[in-house]
Order: sequence, then structure tokens, then C-alpha cells
Amino acid sequence: MFKQKIENGFQVEVPDEWLKDGNPFEIRRSEYAQEVKFGGYVRIDNKDGVNHFVQDGYQSVMAVPYDLPVIGYGNNVVNTLRIWDAQPINTFNLDSFDRGDYQKAVEQENLAKTIVEVLYPNDNHYAGKELRLKQQYFFISASVQRAIVKYKEKHEDIRKFHEKVVFQLNDTHPTVAVPELMRILLDEEGLEWDEAWEVTTKTCAYTNHTIMSEALEKWPIELFSRLLPRIYQIVEEINRRFQNQIQAMYPGNQEKLRKMSIIYDGQVKMAYMAIAASFSVNGVARLHTEILKHQELKDFYEMMPEKFNNKTNGITQRRFLLHGNPLLADWVTSKVGDEWITNLPHIKKLEVYADDLKCQQEFLNIKYQNKIRLARYIMEHNGIEVDPRSIFDVQVKRLHEYKRQLMNILHVMYLYNQLKDNPDMDMVPRTFIFGAKAAAGYKRAKLTIKLINSVADVINNDKSIKGKIKVVFIEDYRVSNAELIFAAADVSEQISTASKEASGTGNMKFMLNGALTLGTMDGANVEIVEEVGADYAFIFGMSSDEVINYEKNGGYYPMDIFNNDQEIRRVLMQLINGYYAPDNPELFRDIYDSLLNTKSSDKADTYFILKDFRSYAEAHKRIDAAYRDEKWWAKAAILNVANSGKFTSDRTIEEYVKDIWHLKKVTVEM
Ligand SMILES: *Cc1c(COP(=O)(O)O)cnc(C)c1O
Repeated sequence: MFKQKIENGFQVEVPDEWLKDGNPFEIRRSEYAQEVKFGGYVRIDNKDGVNHFVQDGYQSVMAVPYDLPVIGYGNNVVNTLRIWDAQPINTFNLDSFDRGDYQKAVEQENLAKTIVEVLYPNDNHYAGKELRLKQQYFFISASVQRAIVKYKEKHEDIRKFHEKVVFQLNDTHPTVAVPELMRILLDEEGLEWDEAWEVTTKTCAYTNHTIMSEALEKWPIELFSRLLPRIYQIVEEINRRFQNQIQAMYPGNQEKLRKMSIIYDGQVKMAYMAIAASFSVNGVARLHTEILKHQELKDFYEMMPEKFNNKTNGITQRRFLLHGNPLLADWVTSKVGDEWITNLPHIKKLEVYADDLKCQQEFLNIKYQNKIRLARYIMEHNGIEVDPRSIFDVQVKRLHEYKRQLMNILHVMYLYNQLKDNPDMDMVPRTFIFGAKAAAGYKRAKLTIKLINSVADVINNDKSIKGKIKVVFIEDYRVSNAELIFAAADVSEQISTASKEASGTGNMKFMLNGALTLGTMDGANVEIVEEVGADYAFIFGMSSDEVINYEKNGGYYPMDIFNNDQEIRRVLMQLINGYYAPDNPELFRDIYDSLLNTKSSDKADTYFILKDFRSYAEAHKRIDAAYRDEKWWAKAAILNVANSGKFTSDRTIEEYVKDIWHLKKVTVEM
């Protein structure tokens, strides 16, 4: 991931050279290196009446593993995280035919250099770049090959591979593991198709992370078959057999075939291959899994309901409370002991202190200290003075239209208009804090960052509003500065269009640090509200059912809202009249058009920002009123901390262990 600089309000990406001084914790493991092959063609060797598939004329690179220690918390356990580097093949190892092929040696060297050079910074968006598929196959092939070698060191029968190994496919990115495992079992281990398929489908499990179509990987067969010729043959056979299965179950149903095929319209659909080849398919929050079952993956759910299950995401309290917020961590421990560090549900014991005036004061004082810590960071990095007594209202997450940072900043513009009309307006001072990286090629996301910074420039320098609103954009949002931000937050903005955020985990980090959620009924927000109680969160906006209904049937006309709501119209006009860009009044035209697009109304305001705006503004008013009641706010914040137990990743991991991986729990000798 790149480092983000803000120059003149615009995001600029600069390389993050995280390895330039080396990494003292990693251990190179040359002895476990694996060769990974790309391109060429498949030759069929017939030996004794048996066909053998041999890849020829390929380029290859060596995958060299590095092991990183991952140290357990107070349990004497050190696990390893394995990462791979790509290195050119030793030319002495080349075939006699290839030796002395200078051109090929140079090409292979370049391939090795580029393959691990950069991470595609896209989030919930698929770009279809050839290098990306090369990277995916590189990491997968190396890992799968090594898993097989390691298994064979201790076990005889490759037909029982699944008894010792699970590949948990984390999103569609590693899905090429399915045909790669098939390739090794068929071509190198000599299994028959049915045997290989049984092992593969008992080894692979798939976690879905999004329902948005632009995020689901679909590789053009031309690219896929050129880069991975043998793998493509196997994908075709997987698809042929899967189609037969569909036809057996739904005879004559062409619609099903068309909708469920792994290869369709000249593309390989990676999510469908993952589902067909996995024994488990899970979503990452209850609502998300229900939408998968009954909307997006309905056909697959109806065909194989037993595969589908939910694993609500979690976060680690060791990083996001113990390490990130030492003042609050010590306070919690002083009240309920330190069991919460390894058993988060224990933090529920805090509940009895929620109404205790002294405890409320202690809690508020810790929050205040953390706000001073963040205010200092902001002064150092942004040169903006913020008042730690103001409400710290925070939205930090990747920039994406569905996450609706735009709705947040439009609401800031709306509030500012109110203050300009009435400088004496009674409001609790508010500091709106943003942090977000946009994918380098995502124009509208980058323009939204510029808009936030332009609005900040105007508002922060307007003396007439007496500092009642401040707007801060924190440069280079990442886990290290995130710790400071969560600890200092009063309000956690979780305002995605309902149905679009699969889970979210930022929402959980804020809750653990005693921020109150301002959010839609989306992703894990639903479960957060269920745990803490609806009285202690600020919920607004359309439900996922309402959103899905509009998407299916139409009937939403943002222009009607523009015409009928004068205050919203005023805000939108400020996007195109130079109010925040006097030197270039057209600067934010694309954002204006995205909301109203008069040329094609079905493409206007795809994420229902204007539809939810009034409800959002009203929720902000409730926050303003609630914050004035210090005791209520402290109680609500403490109740959020106390009810965050469900959202520990320890719980999530145990559910994977029990329900999917079927591992026996091991008690560590201390
Ligand atoms: C937790 C976290 C995220 C995910 O945030 P969401 O609000 O769930 O999208 C992204 N970036 C960083 C640095 C995080 O710590």
C-alpha cells in the first residue's frame, strides 16, 4: 500500500519502501523455495496408453519463502506467517534448450522483479490487470506446492490430504488455489479426476467479503488461458462438470445454466468457482450472509444450502484497546480485572459501573486525555487547532462511494450554511475528522478527498462561526495512527448504504473504545446495536430491504429531492458555483452530476445519499442533544465498551476452528 500525501488538498501516492532497511524479524527459508510456471503451452505425452499433461515453453520464477514470527499473548506460543519473494531462476537450472537464451533470461528476471513489487491498492474493486492474476497465481502456486510437499513428509496417502489441511479462501483473490490443487493431484500425484475433486472440495472453504458486482473477479478467458494454460484446461473441466450437475438438478433450465456457469460470456467467474469447489461458504456478518443466501447467491444457496454459514468478523482487543488505548485499558482492568485481555466477553462486568457518577467522571476524563493526545497529533500534522471539549465525530476508512464520506461532508456544508445564516445557533462545537486512502485510479474518490479538504479550508478559517465547526483530514490513515483516533472518538460514523458494507470492523474498534455509533442498519452495525441496545446508538436511513427494493424496481428520483428541499439544493449548488473552489468552479462538477445526473436518471445517486440525507441530519441533531447530558453520554459510552465482547476476533477464529476447520482445541502448557 502506498503512503498518502496531501498536496494542495489532493491525494498524492508515494511509494512505501517498507523493506528498504531490511526486516530483522524475517527469516529467509531458501530450502523451501518453489518454482512457479507461467505461459507456454500444454503438450500431451502418451505413455503406456495414459495421457500426461506437460507444460512447455513457459517462463518461471522461484518463490522464496520468508517466515515472520507471530507471537502469542502471554502463552509461550510463536506461530509463523509465511510471505514469498520472487527471484529469477538460476540460469544453470534451465533446460539445455533454454540455456544461452539471453532474451528469455532477461524476461524471467523482469517477471521476478515485477511480480512482488506492488500491491494493487484497490478496495472492493476489481481491475482485471494481467499482473494481478500473475501475482495471485504466484503466491497460490508456491503455497499450495509447499503444503503438498510438507504433507508428504509425514503422510503416505495424498487422498487424505484434506484430513490435515484446509485452504480458507479469503475473498476471491486466492481462488486459483482450486485448479492449482487439482493440477498437482492430477498431473503430479496421478489421481483420477473424481479422486482429485473429492480431495479438493474437502480442502477448500470460501469466505465472501462483498456483494458488489464491480468487486467480483472475472478474468477474460483469453488472458487466463494464455497465462495459465494447464490451469485453464482444468477450470473448463470443472465448469463442464458443474454445468452437468446444474442440469441434473434443474433439467432444461437454461436460465440457471446462464446465471450459475463458472465460465460465461468469455470470462472465468472466480466467486462461482470458489463456491462450486468449497465445502463451506461464509459471509462476514449476519445481515451479509442473509443477503448472500436470499439475494446475491440465491441460486447457489438453493442448490447447496448446507455449505452456507455465517462468521461475523471481529477485531483484537490486544491491539485496539490494550495497546492503542492504555489509559482506558488500565481503567477497565482496575474495575473488572484483566481477564478481558484474553476473554473479551468478560468486559460485560463493566456494565454495573455505567450509572456510577464517579466512574462516569473517570471515563470522561480518560476520553478527554485521549482527545488531547489526538489534538496534539492534529496540530503537529495539520496545523489545525481543535478543541478537545468539542464532539470528536470521526469517519476513518477506505474511501469508497458506498461508504458515503460524501454524505458526511455534504452534511458539514449544510451545518455551516445554518451557522452562516445564524452565527448564534445553539450547537455543541463539533470536530469532524476524516481519514481515508482512495485507490490511485478511483477519480471520484480522490475528488471527494479534495472536497473534504476544500471545505475544511473555508470552515477552519472562518472566524465568524467562532470555532463551532472544525474539519480535519488526517493524512495517511493507517493502523498506527488509527489507534490514536479510535481512542479519542466520541462519534463513530458507520454510514454505508444499507446492504453494501459486508461487515465493517472499524465500527467494532470504535465501540471497544467507547464511541457511540452513528450508523445505518448495515453489516455488523446490526449486531452492534443488538448487543448494546438501540437506545445507545444513533441509527438512521433506509433498511437494506428498502435499498434492494429500489434497486430492483426503480422509483427513486433524487431530482425530486433537489427540487423540493431548499437546503439540500443550496448545498449541491455550492458544488458548482465556486463556493469551495473559487479558482475553478467546475472542480466538483463530477460529484454534483453523480448525485443528479440528468442525462440518465437511473445512474443518479446510486448510493442514496440524498434519500438518506434528512434522516442523517436528524440523527446528528439527536447527537447534539444527547452530548449535552454528560451523564447519559458517559453511561452510553461505558455500555458500548461493556457490550463489545462479541466482537473479539478470538470468538470469530474459534467459530472457524469449530464449524469449518474441525480442529481440536489444544491447551498450551505454560
Ligand atoms: C479497521 C481498519 C479498516 C477497516 O475499516 P472499516 O470502517 O471497517 O471499513 C481500514 N483501515 C484501517 C487502517 C483499519 O484499522
